[in-house]
Amino acid sequence: MLYREEPFVAKNSMFGRFLGYYKPQMHLFVADTICALILAGIDLAFPIILRSLTGGLFTQGQAAIMQSLGAIAIGLVVMYAVRCGCRYFVSAQGHVMGARMESKMREDLFDQYERFSFAYFDSHSSGDMMSRVVNDLFDICEGAHHLPEWLIICGVEVIGAFVILFTISPALSGAMAVVTAVLVVVMVRQNLNMKAVFSDNRKKISEVNSQLQDSLSGIRVVKSFANERTERAKFRHANDRYLDSKVNQYHAMGTYTATYGLMSGVLYFVVIVLGGWLVAQGELSPVDMATFALYISLFCTPIETLVNSTEMFQKALAGFKRMDEVLQTAPDVQDKPGATELRVEEGAIEYRDVCFSYDDCELGDDGQNRVRPVIDHMNLSIRPGETIALVGPSGGGKSTTCSLLPRFYDVQSGSITIDGQDVRDVTQESLRRAIGIVQQDVYLFDGTIRDNISYGRPSASDEDIAAAAQQSNILEFIESLPEGFDTVVGERGSRLSGGQKQRIAIARVFLKNPAILILDEATSALDNESEEAVQESLERLAANRTTIIIAHRLSTIKDADEIATVERGQVVERGTHEELLARGGTYARYYRMQFEGVRAARTE
Ligand code: ADP
Repeated sequence: MLYREEPFVAKNSMFGRFLGYYKPQMHLFVADTICALILAGIDLAFPIILRSLTGGLFTQGQAAIMQSLGAIAIGLVVMYAVRCGCRYFVSAQGHVMGARMESKMREDLFDQYERFSFAYFDSHSSGDMMSRVVNDLFDICEGAHHLPEWLIICGVEVIGAFVILFTISPALSGAMAVVTAVLVVVMVRQNLNMKAVFSDNRKKISEVNSQLQDSLSGIRVVKSFANERTERAKFRHANDRYLDSKVNQYHAMGTYTATYGLMSGVLYFVVIVLGGWLVAQGELSPVDMATFALYISLFCTPIETLVNSTEMFQKALAGFKRMDEVLQTAPDVQDKPGATELRVEEGAIEYRDVCFSYDDCELGDDGQNRVRPVIDHMNLSIRPGETIALVGPSGGGKSTTCSLLPRFYDVQSGSITIDGQDVRDVTQESLRRAIGIVQQDVYLFDGTIRDNISYGRPSASDEDIAAAAQQSNILEFIESLPEGFDTVVGERGSRLSGGQKQRIAIARVFLKNPAILILDEATSALDNESEEAVQESLERLAANRTTIIIAHRLSTIKDADEIATVERGQVVERGTHEELLARGGTYARYYRMQFEGVRAARTE
């Protein structure tokens, strides 16, 4: 591909870039960490307090207990009030921190997508890009705020509990540690197995979604071919595969949950059997044995959380890698340092020895390209204010020629200039402001007609918008609508006909008022009546602007100032309609073919 994933020269490592997102949230991160530590400390302290209380009952008698009970009660209330506050902070502010990081990452990703040239979008599906913005960022930010707090709370609780138990009975705590280690290994393996099942699950649901989207988007084709049964069968197949995957998921989850239950069971078994034996031997007091039992629950929950965090860590890491890959990709069309504003005084365009290929051209042994470029040493000069029509066989390179002018792609060699300024030396913004494009496939945004017409000049007044609509022959139609310019056009303009959408797109360009115009097969998808209205407004739009037209129907361009035939990426002939007809070359052949085709159709 022409488009290369070239990394920027990264200023720091991927980990450093990840930490960069914590920086603006540092105050929250520090407060969150402190609260997490307090939470862990309080959880650890509870069994110790209970132990000293019950221990005191045996050693100091009831009166002494009664004396200290009040202080303990007050201490507990304070502890639990603090615990409540910390729990609130970790839960609420931790999520706020994650959400802020996610929002910043989403912005960075969107900004980066906006920078890429067409080549990037040619080689990346919108589904993939959406999934990076939605799913990956969710995974990253879940990890970004949960992992540090889990590591702190659970790590402190597990290590703290073990240290406390070790000071009470090294033998019993050693046995517990061995059992726990074995079960943790089993749980981690099961967790990894679940991860594979979850990823299969995601693949299967995305198959269901794309099947659904494909069938619903193409519902008109489905119905016109009476293919509902086939579509239902395809959907059922995808749905059944998803169900199988869900069943596997629940089996894996069930096994994992059972193993987790087994951990606390085995730990209680060890404490009761081994602890009971130690008590019988006089090596452990009954109070200490009860303390061990209390610590089991403090042990198990954080261990399960730590095991789960391995999956969360992997998801967050994979998500960040995918996001970072996008952010570290240098857009292949960029403004040069010191790029100037394009100044269009006359609007003369010059393609000089231009070569371009969508694929990298491999060089053969003779040093020549193995693959013929799509644009092959093209030379074409267009006079200021001239309307030039590009004609030629499909795939000959007409649209590509037009895409190179606003730098949707960059030429690989040669140059394109506007009034003597190389398009690569000026800012993309000023270049694209100077060029208006009307294409066959019109894209309208899901807003009002006013929003769509003023898209290129949001500050335009109502009078200017109405004037643009008038010039593009759509004003009457808009005014006949109950909500006029405030009519919502629906997704991709679904509530309008092809001709209406096209005229709104033309009004949009009228309002932008560019010096140069590209009309890429703008009327080829329209019926005759719409074509006439659109054609008329296009002619008005093209007046006094340098215009390049690509049209299939030669009847629509025979009044162009000049016609150039583009074949295999080169201009093979050029002249007025009459000159080219007289020359009897490719254009004359095309014209005759179309003309005779129409005549034959009329006589049928
Ligand atoms: P025309 O407008 O004359 O029909 P195009 O400029 O659209 O021709 O296409 C010229 C050649 O480039 C064709 O072989 C076409 O398949 C190829 N092509 C066009 N667009 C792309 C693209 N985005 N990626 C790869 N190849 C493309």
